[in-house]
Amino acid sequence: MDEREEQETQSEQEEVEEQEPEQEEEQEQEEEEPQTEDSEEENEEESEEEEEEEEEEEEEEVEIPIKRAYKAEMYKSKEELPKMIRIEASTICQLHCPSCYMRQDPEGVAKGCGNGMLSFENFKKIVDDNNFVEIELSNHGEIFLNPELVKMIEYAYQKNIRLTAENGVNFNKLTDEQAEALVKYKFGRIIISIDGASPETYKKYRVHGDFNTVINNIKKVNALKEKYHSEDPILRWKFILFGYNEHEVEKARQMAEELNMEIEFVTNWDPDFSPCKDLEQVKRLTGVEGETHTPYSRLKQFRKGEICWYYCNFLWEAPQINWDGQILGCCSLYKENFGGNVFEEGLLNALNNPKMLYAKNMITGKAPALKGIPCTTCYVYEDLVRNGGKLWVPSPNSKWNKFKAFINKFLKKNEEEPEEEYQEEESQEEEN
Ligand code: SF4
Repeated sequence: MDEREEQETQSEQEEVEEQEPEQEEEQEQEEEEPQTEDSEEENEEESEEEEEEEEEEEEEEVEIPIKRAYKAEMYKSKEELPKMIRIEASTICQLHCPSCYMRQDPEGVAKGCGNGMLSFENFKKIVDDNNFVEIELSNHGEIFLNPELVKMIEYAYQKNIRLTAENGVNFNKLTDEQAEALVKYKFGRIIISIDGASPETYKKYRVHGDFNTVINNIKKVNALKEKYHSEDPILRWKFILFGYNEHEVEKARQMAEELNMEIEFVTNWDPDFSPCKDLEQVKRLTGVEGETHTPYSRLKQFRKGEICWYYCNFLWEAPQINWDGQILGCCSLYKENFGGNVFEEGLLNALNNPKMLYAKNMITGKAPALKGIPCTTCYVYEDLVRNGGKLWVPSPNSKWNKFKAFINKFLKKNEEEPEEEYQEEESQEEEN
């Protein structure tokens, strides 16, 4: 503890000192509350358990301050903030996909991200307050259900910000106005989830969705792209490989070509829902391992430059913000957040939230797991720990990575493609 105290900044110490008396007062008040004799035993037990849980959470918040970790990951000014964010336009979705956690865990959703939609007013506020070049709008829900989406698309275009929906849309609902805005205001890439190449296979996972409606919406956008002589938006077909649709890989590839779409095949993350049967054939046809992979194996591939590591990198490169302004951090979180609200305190303060700073140090292996930090119970972090902590997510803010970035800038290498540059560097680091 002495070492920590020496390295904590003054402001951090003040924060802790302010929190501790409050907490002590609350605990004293709770201890002094008289118990009525009429109270039922069950109620008493329940309320005691709740109190204990609350006390535990409060204690965790007091324990968070960690000195050097703060300094290394803290943004000093707005100029240092990421130029890309992910902000959820809608956590509401009209489909009922069997493995979707938004359907399976309504309590978790209610506790965390909730069901709601980003307002144009808040979208404009965060855009005007910052200097973004790209905003990703999709995550847990369906962005095309948001009635103010067209206004956001137009405003982003005026501000020269590229919008994307690369986390995925189901594309079952698309108004004529939305379709026109996508083309007219040059929306970026849209990834459309279509698991199958026929109505019969499609509806097995995309329950309440309709294959033909999706295909017709794609054709609607294509017709507008011809009318406006535009390449945007780029449409990409995302085909999740299941046991029941693996025979339609070639048909989907052909359809995608006819529809002027890119296509990607991805592994089903839920091993219990219709896993692929012929793994060798799937790999030969798609290049994808049909079996569910672990985060640890993905991180290994990322370090070798073989894949793009999505999960934890978002904390640094494109933090996920909920429709109501909560900092979710990465796209996998829905029932917890890192504290802070961008609409209330601005992006700089929200991203410098102690939980976020601590999490960055946790997942780069510099700080131990801590209850109350969302990553602690995340399967990605658990998998990294399970593997003995031999491989950690690299922080772009590490001295080594900053030094390499400086050298590359000096040599004027690959300045337009920082993401690829970063992956190559990691690959070289692994080889060394
Ligand atoms: S450890 Fe999990 S919750 Fe934390 S950033 Fe990575 S994927 Fe997100």
